Amino acid sequence: MAVRTIKGLDDPIVRQKAKKVGKVDAQIRVLIADLIASMRAAPGVGLAAPQVGVPLRVAVVEIEKKLFTLVNPEIVERSKETQTGPEGCLSIPGYWADVERAMKVRVRALDKSGKRFTTTAEGFLARAFQHELDHLDGVLYIDRLPSLDLLRRVEDIEQEEEAATVG
Ligand SMILES: [Zn+2]
Repeated sequence: MAVRTIKGLDDPIVRQKAKKVGKVDAQIRVLIADLIASMRAAPGVGLAAPQVGVPLRVAVVEIEKKLFTLVNPEIVERSKETQTGPEGCLSIPGYWADVERAMKVRVRALDKSGKRFTTTAEGFLARAFQHELDHLDGVLYIDRLPSLDLLRRVEDIEQEEEAATVG
């Protein structure tokens, strides 16, 4: 298990569409373990493989000690109802913005054993899933802002830093 370096906007890999995982084998399980270690070290509540330089559809999310490993995840349902709240990204350190997301999503994925599962998330967990799944398509939260003028610097609102960092 190793903490990997998190890539920033200067690395084109964060803008690439990641490829589907063919088989959840030992190599993928090492990647998953490294993603978990890197997410916790950052710290963040989620991390996607392209953020550590691996162009594969793998992400992890951990909120309130509940850990999700998502291999080839897809959003199969999203609520019309939305939520707007602070969001930051480990690949864009020092910034955050209020981002509009679906309030609820249903996600289908493979787990670390390659078994298919479906889970429903709401609120902040739903936000984290949407943020990490976007990473697999090379999409960042800043792309979802009506204007980049809405980007804020973390040091301006120090106490919100933690709430703002997704992954
Ligand atoms: Zn991110």
